[in-house]
Amino acid sequence: MKTIYVDNAATTAMSDTAINAMTPYLKEVYGNPSSLHTVGQTAKEAIEDARARFARLINADPKEIYFTSCGSEADNQALRSAAYNGLKKGKKHIVSTAFEHHAVLHTLKKLEKEGFEVTYLPVSESGLVTAEQVERAIRPDTALISVMYANNEIGTIQPIREIGAVCRKAGVVFHTDAVQAVGHIPVDVKADNIDMLAVSAHKFHGPKGVGALYCRKGVPLNAFIDGGAQERNRRAGTENIAGIAAMTAALEEACANMPRTSAKLKSLRDRLIDGLLKIPHSRLNGDRDKRLPANVNMCFEGIEGEGLLLLLDARGICASSGSACTSGSLDPSHVLLAIGLPHEVAHGSLRISFSDYNTDEDVDAILQAVPEVVAYLRNMSPVWEALEKGEKEHLI
Ligand SMILES: *Cc1c(COP(=O)(O)O)cnc(C)c1O
Repeated sequence: MKTIYVDNAATTAMSDTAINAMTPYLKEVYGNPSSLHTVGQTAKEAIEDARARFARLINADPKEIYFTSCGSEADNQALRSAAYNGLKKGKKHIVSTAFEHHAVLHTLKKLEKEGFEVTYLPVSESGLVTAEQVERAIRPDTALISVMYANNEIGTIQPIREIGAVCRKAGVVFHTDAVQAVGHIPVDVKADNIDMLAVSAHKFHGPKGVGALYCRKGVPLNAFIDGGAQERNRRAGTENIAGIAAMTAALEEACANMPRTSAKLKSLRDRLIDGLLKIPHSRLNGDRDKRLPANVNMCFEGIEGEGLLLLLDARGICASSGSACTSGSLDPSHVLLAIGLPHEVAHGSLRISFSDYNTDEDVDAILQAVPEVVAYLRNMSPVWEALEKGEKEHLI
């Protein structure tokens, strides 16, 4: 049986380009970049070459790029640094949203325990926040604003440029978790008025365990890991040269291919959405247009997402019910609750996230499997029976 992998928002397969970019640094160029000898200095040059190329791809200066061990680390470092530097000026207020990734939400929860006050902006039914909402939430003591670029579950793309302009005007540090955006849609840190931005390599066919933090010149950045002087004293630890080289090569490839891949992915996405919406009592989650090219997120009434996933997996289709971080728990996704879905509906969710490695045949197979599996599960569901008998009202 062929495996159809459509969980690319959780992680992607590495591209050959990324693997090939990685191997010299696992074999010949194994030096420690902090060593003064030739083997070390060759490694050092590789990192600085990657930094310059990486910076160009998001319109940053090389000095504004700090390599990290993952997207979560970049988010943690950015939020804590901006919060603590705000506190030095007596600022204890943070603005964010209800549907951030847990790398942001759980950091903010800890900052609340440390005495910060966080305003979580509500998200519209279609999964968007506005610059006006952000502007209204800013107070004289606001230290930091954090709004994700694109949501990992429902794929909605936020008006980051407008939100950034509001933050810049108010003189408040603006952080965005751009892990789902960079490599997928054009991102320009200057035009978007971004102060801090988190990236992760494994979401665009790079390796796991490497990411980057952009921090605009003039915005103070505290070290998150103390030790050696790596990353200009902002991130101690011997550099993951192979990972950094592979991430940079993967991002170059993703950006160069973006016009072609984004048209192809949108066509897969839209055909799947139109096909799945034919299932009675189904709905699309998230905005139809302001949406990542590769994201489909649907709810089917009267079923449990877990059952749907297991039966699809048995047919070789690897999908997700939301975020990889909440799967395994029985709580419905905080993102689907944030857009106002009732618990019963949020439980029956399915996220399909494509990559360039998917084909039209994959969409055909999914369009064949999902309606059959949904019908099978509904047949066994007491909730569906009650809905069909009119004992319960349909919610979608
Ligand atoms: C995957 C993801 C992260 C975490 O990135 P890691 O490199 O896995 O730590 C953070 N934010 C979003 C939106 C993500 O999709």
